[in-house]
This record gives sequence, C-alpha cells and structure tokens, in this order.
Amino acid sequence: MEDTIAAIGTPLGEGGIGIIRISGPASRDILEEIFECTGESSSVENRRLTYGRIIDKEKNQIIDECMAVFMQAPKTYTTEDTAEINCHGSMVSLKNTLQLILKKGARLAEPGEFTKRAFLNGRIDLSQAEAVIDVVKAKTDRSFDVAISQLQGALSLKVSEIRRSLLDLLVDITVNIDYPDEDIEEITYEKMEDDLLLIRDHIDDLRSTAHTGRMLREGIRITICGRPNVGKSSLMNALLRENRAIVTEIPGTTRDTIEENVNIRNIPVNLIDTAGIHETEDIVEQMGIERSKDAFNQADYIILVLDSSQSLTEEDQTLISYIGNRNCLVVMNKQDLGMCLDEEQLASALPCGRLLPASVKKEEGIEEIEDRIEELVYGSTAPSAEHVMVNNVRHIQLLDDAAGDLERATEMIRRNEPLDFIEVDVRSAYDALGEIIGETVSDEILNEVFSRFCLGK
Ligand code: GDP
Repeated sequence: MEDTIAAIGTPLGEGGIGIIRISGPASRDILEEIFECTGESSSVENRRLTYGRIIDKEKNQIIDECMAVFMQAPKTYTTEDTAEINCHGSMVSLKNTLQLILKKGARLAEPGEFTKRAFLNGRIDLSQAEAVIDVVKAKTDRSFDVAISQLQGALSLKVSEIRRSLLDLLVDITVNIDYPDEDIEEITYEKMEDDLLLIRDHIDDLRSTAHTGRMLREGIRITICGRPNVGKSSLMNALLRENRAIVTEIPGTTRDTIEENVNIRNIPVNLIDTAGIHETEDIVEQMGIERSKDAFNQADYIILVLDSSQSLTEEDQTLISYIGNRNCLVVMNKQDLGMCLDEEQLASALPCGRLLPASVKKEEGIEEIEDRIEELVYGSTAPSAEHVMVNNVRHIQLLDDAAGDLERATEMIRRNEPLDFIEVDVRSAYDALGEIIGETVSDEILNEVFSRFCLGK
C-alpha cells in the first residue's frame, strides 16, 4: 500500500459533475502538479475545496475547470492522504484528467481498492467494507437501511460480542487443559454446556434473519403464469402502477417473457410475465415455452392466474400439474364475472398454494397479493428496523459453520469427552465468526470480496 492509486468514482456517462479520487502518499504532490488554483486561494489547503483548473503543464494544455480538495491522513476514507477532483461530468475531461494523474505516478485502482485500503488500514472491518457495496447497490429503502446499519458496525458489534463470550470460554478450557494440576477453578461440563447454549442462541438469533435479509438485499423473482386472457398483463400492470418501478436494465427480455423490476412494500421484486406452457408442434412456440419453464424453475414464488368465470381448461391443468408442490399463489381473477372454479379441487391439486379471489379490473385483491409477497419475505412478523440483519451469503455460511461447530462441541460435552476435543470445535467457531469481520481471513477471500466492487469505491 505504499503506492498511490486513482480512479474515476462516478458512473461513466454525461453528468453535471464527475469525481476522480486519489489515495496514497503521493496524493498531494500529484494534485499540486496538475492543479492550478485560479480563485481566491493561492495554494491547496488541507480539507478545503478549492476552485481551479487541471493543466497538463508539459503540453501547456487546460484539461478542465474543476474544484479540488486534499485531505490529509489519517481521517480520510482510506486513512491515507487523499485527493478528490470534481471535474465536469464529461468522459473526455474525466479520462484526460485520470490519464494525467497516472502519468504523474499513480496506479489505476482495482475495483474496491479504496475500501480495501480502509479495511487493511483498520478503519472498518470486513463486514463493514462489504456493506459499502450493499449501500451502493441497495434497491429499496429497507435494504438501504440494513446496509447502512451494517456499515455503521451493528453486525460487527453483535459478532464481536459473541466472539468475546467464546473467547472467555476458550480461555477457561485452555487453562484447564494446560495447567490441570494448578490451583485453578476447574471448569465443569455443566457450565460449559450452559455457556455454549447461550452463545448458540445469539448465533441462531442472527441466523434467523438470514432469509429476510437475503431477499431484501438480492430481491425475489416472481413468475406470473396462466393461459392467455386470464388477466396476467392486467395484474402485472396493476402491480407496476401501484408500486415504484426500480429502473434497471433487464437483459434477456424476450417476446415470450416480459420482465419488470418493482418495489413492493420495500422488497425488490423481479416480476416475470410468462407465456403459457402447453403442448405444441410449433418450434418457435416451443422455444417460448422452454423460456417460460426456465422462468418457472428460477422463480422464488409463482403466481398462477385463473379465470374464475370459466371452469379449468386443459391448459390450466397442465400449468397446475407443472407447479405441483411448489409454493404458489392462485389468483382467481375476474370474480366480477362470477365463480365457476372448484376451490376444493384446486386446494388438493396445489397443496402449497394459497387461493385468493380477485378482480384486477375492479382493482380488488391487489393489496392481498402484496400482503402475500410481504409475508413470503418477512414471515408472519416483520423484524423491527433496529434488528440486526444478516444478508450476505458469506456471513450466513460462516454463522452456519459456527453453529455446527458449537453443536458438535455440545454433543461432546454431553458425552463427557476430553477437553482437548471440545476445545477444537469451540476454537473453530471462534475463527468462523472472526472471518465475518475479517479478523481471520485469507487473502483469497479478501480478493474475492473486493472484486465485486465497482471501480472508484
Ligand atoms: P393475459 O393474456 O393473461 O395477459 O390477459 P390480459 O391482462 O391481457 O387480460 C385479458 C382481458 O381480460 C382484458 O380484456 C382485460 O381487460 C380483462 N380482464 C383482466 N382482469 C379482469 C377482471 O378482473 N375482470 C374482468 N371482467 N376482465 C378482466
């Protein structure tokens, strides 16, 4: 980390302002070499945004007008000397300025390298560093709140508390192993078991938030299916109308499936309206049906739309048998036209289905559909906003590992096995939790974590 890194920190494209960041020991020298104050200040002062221009002195060429700031270590994002240049948000200006900075000795930063430095320099721990990317990528207010709380160290604090208790226990065990003959209070198996159960509870408390946490962070995929004309597009439009759409590009939209991202009760939802699934000889149609099947198989939840005013058709039956035991919501649409569906028959054909009468045309039943989606993510009780939530697969895996280790340790305690054996598993749980906050973590994992970042962060 002795070199100085630089990158464009704002998205590429046209914008009012574009920002370049520099971090490392040469930040100040580089800024002074390329920046000329043209306003009231005659030189760059620590932590003072200064008006001026970027100049390529060798070519005597003005690159852009800008505002620049130098921030002296250690109270900076990376804890190193840092500079930021606010150019015009033009690709030409940003690229030329960055090139000049690189020519003066900086190296192009790798994705996430600024945050990696903040971690390696000890300003934040690994779970906080990971939260940075979640803050940047959050799609709804709720997922943003979870990420901000993690960034501020809520998860780290919880994990550290659990580790503290494990360490106390480890010390007791180790002392008893190493100095059995000394006059030390002997650790009882009973106390060890009690301690471990308490610690397990805390770990399980965190693990219980994983399902909701992941869905809030990653969003859920919901596939709407049904034969033509039952009201799928009307339902999709109703859900889109009522909820703020999340604007992102969705690759793979085809004429057979229509995808939209939408914010339903603070849950990022990827809604897919599929073509029907039925037997056909037509090759093109078969391809569409294959895509519908893919959408089906990748869905977290399926909404089957039926026309209540008609009895089930063969195509409805095909879909029902395809859904089988999967979780689904059966929207019995067009209630305004009467009810010909047999609810008992539907309930037995779809054991994991919830039946819901609706009339999309009359705007009836939409709220209830959203209730079901909310329930799917939060379960029956939504955790409060202050509740620490785990949302990252890496953290969830490590918590599972720690819980498994402690489970094994508890079993050994119950079998009265030697302390050495028990110690191994307790230590392994301690290390797994340490990996969450980055206290015990390999370079490989670090590289993997930071490779998911965007450039300039
Ligand atoms: P899709 O082919 O399944 O996407 O069906 P559409 O959403 O295009 O709807 C087919 C027709 O059914 C349209 O004329 C809709 O206006 C109508 N429709 C949708 N929902 C209802 C409803 O609840 N009641 C009635 N009466 N008509 C509906």
